[in-house]
Formats: sequence, C-alpha cells, structure tokens
Amino acid sequence: MLELHNLNVYYGAIHVLKDVSLKVNKGEIVTLIGSNGAGKTTTLRTISGIKKLKSGSIEYDGRDISKYSASDIVKMGISHVPEGRRVFSTMSVLENIEMGAFTRTDKPQIKKDMDKVFSLFPKLYERKNQYAGNLSGGEQQMLSIGRALLSRPNILLLDEPSMGLAPIIVKEIFSIIQDINENGTTILLVEQNANMALKYTNRAYIIRNGVIDMEGDAASLLNDEKVKKAYLGG
Ligand code: ATP
Repeated sequence: MLELHNLNVYYGAIHVLKDVSLKVNKGEIVTLIGSNGAGKTTTLRTISGIKKLKSGSIEYDGRDISKYSASDIVKMGISHVPEGRRVFSTMSVLENIEMGAFTRTDKPQIKKDMDKVFSLFPKLYERKNQYAGNLSGGEQQMLSIGRALLSRPNILLLDEPSMGLAPIIVKEIFSIIQDINENGTTILLVEQNANMALKYTNRAYIIRNGVIDMEGDAASLLNDEKVKKAYLGG
C-alpha cells in the first residue's frame, strides 16, 4: 500500500534520512522505532509531503506521491497526527474535529464520521464544547487522532502517540489505535516507547542515525537481544 524506496532527505547540509526503505501493507500496524533524533518524525513528514526529499520515491497504491502537495496527499487518504498533538487550543473540541474535514464537502457523511469519532472517544463527546487547550494530555492526543480520522484516511501516520502520557493512558490510546486499525485503517506509527508499540504492532523497523538498522515482525524484535538492550530498557 505504501512503499518508501531509498529516501534521502536533508535539512540544509545535514543528511537526515539515508536510503530509507520501508513498506506498509494494507491492514497492518507498522512501527518505526528509534531514539531521539534518529529521523522518525522526518520520515513521516516526508511521506505527508511537508518535507521534500532529495532522492528516492514514495509509492502509494502504485503511484509515486513524492512530488504531491501536503493537502493533495491528505485528499488521497494519508493523514498525519503530528508529534506533540498540536490541537487548536482556543477552539472547542467540536471545532477542532470539524477542522479535520477541511478537504471535504459531503456534509451528511461528515456528520456521521464525527459521530463515529465521538463513539470511539466518549471522553471527547463529554467535553465537546470545552476549549481544546483545557483537555488533559491524553484527551488532546485523542482529539488529534479524532481530527485526523475526519479526513477518512486509508493510512494514518502517528507521531509518538504515547509521548508525555501516563502508562494507563498510553494503554488506552494504543487500544483505540488497534480499534481504528480493526475498522479498516492501515497504520504507520513512530515511537520511542518500543515496549508498548511492539505489543500492538505487526511489523517494525528500527532507524538509527537516519539508516534503517533492523526490521522484522514485532514478536521476533521483542525477543532480540540487541533490540532489548538498545530499545527495551535491557
Ligand atoms: P524525536 O523523537 O526527537 O523527534 P526523530 O527520530 O523524530 O526524533 P527527527 O525529528 O526526524 O528525529 O530529526 C532527525 C534529525 O534531523 C535530527 O538530527 C534533528 O536535529 C534534525 N532536524 C529535524 N528537524 C530539523 C530542522 N527543521 N532543521 C534542521 N535540522 C532538523
């Protein structure tokens, strides 16, 4: 469904992604694991057209989307939930979710999709008229995911959904990510929290200094001594 072939991406003179190749099959949850500064966010930003690549290609449903604009990529079914949540804090929860439908005009279906988001996240429904800035960190993450779902993505790109959240909330978020996946959305997520991510993932890639270092199914990576030592806290 989504295939990156030898992506090379730079910030100025800094070579940040080096021949990165990875693949996400339809229906999968795939995780890109790596420490701070490894290139995870840059990978997602490149897929979603925010950051341009120097060379390589991004194949989505058989065509190269690497030259498309970010808004065209959303329209084609790829939605990105950025790191740090970035909700519109002085807008209500409801207005934030509505913003996710900015590429759409089919009002009745938008309403149905909003209802679906509220059934997935009942906490957001309870607080739908409150300022997004007053939500807890976990609720803001839910809002950010809910907003992304309003573009009806085939693929959801999630940047560190667990960042800064208490373990019990992280569990809740991952279980919702699993529900979203079971409802037909393919997921590529990036995480430093490898322990949690690998439990909910089909396959994973490990990126180190801009290079894909390892790849495999989640179960075998969870049992790999090198991975345990470097990414799973021993
Ligand atoms: P983190 O978890 O800290 O976000 P990451 O794996 O997502 O880490 P990236 O954010 O992709 O890493 O950063 C990869 C490298 O690119 C880092 O060395 C970072 O300093 C550099 N970098 C990221 N954004 C910029 C930018 N706007 N300008 C210059 N360098 C950048």
